[in-house]
Amino acid sequence: MTTDPGVSPSSPVTSYHVHSRWSDGVAIVPDIVAQAHSLGLDEVGISDHFVLHPDTPDIEWSMRSEELPRYVSEVLASAAQSQEISVRLGIEADYIPETIDTLKEALALHPFDYVIGSVHFMDGFPIDEHRRYWDSLSADQVNQTWLGYYTRIVDMAASGAFDIVGHLDLPKKFGHAPTADMTAAVNAALDAIARADMAMEINTSGWSLPANEAYPAPWIVRAARSRDIPIVITADAHTPKYLTRNFDMARRLARASGYTQLALFERRVRRLQDM
Ligand SMILES: [Zn+2]
Ligand SMILES: [Zn+2]
Repeated sequence: MTTDPGVSPSSPVTSYHVHSRWSDGVAIVPDIVAQAHSLGLDEVGISDHFVLHPDTPDIEWSMRSEELPRYVSEVLASAAQSQEISVRLGIEADYIPETIDTLKEALALHPFDYVIGSVHFMDGFPIDEHRRYWDSLSADQVNQTWLGYYTRIVDMAASGAFDIVGHLDLPKKFGHAPTADMTAAVNAALDAIARADMAMEINTSGWSLPANEAYPAPWIVRAARSRDIPIVITADAHTPKYLTRNFDMARRLARASGYTQLALFERRVRRLQDM
């Protein structure tokens, strides 16, 4: 099976935000790698969920903390076996203030190529689990949740534990737009991301949501460009057929926002290459 990823053959195509059965994806790692090759990718990175939640040890959609070494071994084994394309060892780790030191210690034990930092929880509140949590909020609580979320992003960047910020405006997932102006909060988050020398993903999964736009929104991509924040284009794929979903649209968004390069990662070192 081949699908046009919407790019010229000379530019490197990566897909770095990919979930396997180690968390909430449907496929095993070797099958993801095989599909990545048939889609024409140059690099595929596996980035399963890793959540050290202080109150809930078993998050259904995350690997358990003790599974991390086996996850790493399996991805590295696939990387060693893959002749045609590069397989990167990534992870999507939650930033949670109470567990950030433990997280850093856990990640330091393994040769990751990149770490995606995401905020899926605001204290007890699950940002993207189900719309019913948002439906129960008043308009003021919705605004406070958005503002608190961006403050978490600032803290996440300052922690220095992450290479790429995941789905930056995640609270829009179920359509609960803030009524308050978020410009200052978003700018503060982007300033912190730039200070931390992190990259940002244009995550195409947002186009399949009510928002019908990538994470983050186009105005945030432009604001990131003005701060020279590097980008990667990712699909947040939970099934291999979506490894390059809407990548053509993401490239158009990136170019329209002034980007000419994409970031690549190896052993947590970033380089930029022309799109
Ligand atoms: Zn996520
Ligand atoms: Zn994800």
